[in-house]
Amino acid sequence: MIIVLKQQAKKDDITRITEEVKKLGLKTSVVTGSEQTIIGLIGDTTIIDPKKFEVDEAVDHVMRVSEPYKLANREFHPLDTIVDVNGVKIGGGNICYIAGPCSVENKDQILEVARAVKKSGANILRGGAFKPRTSPYAFQGMGEDALNLLLEAKKETGLPICTELMDAEYIPLFNEKVDLVQIGARNMQNYSLLKKVGSEIKKPVLLKRGLSSTYEEWIMAAEYIMANGNPNVILCERGIRTFETYTRNTLDLQAIPVLKRLTHLPIIIDPSHAGGKWWLVESMSKASLVAGADGLMIEVHNDPEKALSDGPQSLRPDKYDILMQDLKKLESIIHHE
Ligand code: PEP
Ligand code: MN
Repeated sequence: MIIVLKQQAKKDDITRITEEVKKLGLKTSVVTGSEQTIIGLIGDTTIIDPKKFEVDEAVDHVMRVSEPYKLANREFHPLDTIVDVNGVKIGGGNICYIAGPCSVENKDQILEVARAVKKSGANILRGGAFKPRTSPYAFQGMGEDALNLLLEAKKETGLPICTELMDAEYIPLFNEKVDLVQIGARNMQNYSLLKKVGSEIKKPVLLKRGLSSTYEEWIMAAEYIMANGNPNVILCERGIRTFETYTRNTLDLQAIPVLKRLTHLPIIIDPSHAGGKWWLVESMSKASLVAGADGLMIEVHNDPEKALSDGPQSLRPDKYDILMQDLKKLESIIHHE
């Protein structure tokens, strides 16, 4: 971080500000030019709010020269993080396939889908139990009953389960029953939830990108979880809001190389919520793997026309099977660094 002083700044101002910086446990380097003085801050500036210095009358402006996150930063952790979801490794060249319905609806549905996606090569089963729906009148999920059905499907197929946590009240239940805890797009900036997920959730976390979040906001959300004690975070791009209305959201594939440059965390793609249309899933899944994604989360339903949520974007098991065969072929020719 550098503090640029106003031209009329005096020696006393420089002394006052450098003393202030030192009190925060940092060192300074003062560069006095013919017109302007710049104070460089040396040390961990992630804990410093630039506004603290911006209010000083001798300060012109403050600039960050390094990112405000430390734990998620590739700079301090050059190797890819590999997250282990109950035996399934994600990241560092390990690709994961998460598949299942948007919502768990009944026993037959989740068992049928679980068997099918397992046969096609998926390695984690998804299924919403607590659903964040835009309308309060829409199906809200089966709650704890859905977790028990997911557990039955896990018992039969051996697939670890992934489902969304919406409320901190359910943390003990999720610690007991869930293998990968999803934080949905709408909760990406629910900081009190993120803090509790960091300190209390003992399982890996799948952090979806907020509907209109920047990369930095998304990484800072991961940083919240990590700074509070849980280092096992997987990022998931699921489409962002743009001016386009034809598709549900716009899939940001650039997020893959950008996030891999900025962080060491695995990043997966959810093409189902991105496009909102089942026929977009195939091409976007392939593009995601080619762009370096560490995995895919795809919605699969045995009867999409009757699905209680997200039917139009769900693949039937036969389509998912064909896609998985192609993805496996692609995987064998893609080299991840
Ligand atoms: C979901 O995965 O079913 C879901 C609600 O996702 P998102 O938070 O990305 O909308
Ligand atoms: Mn969904």
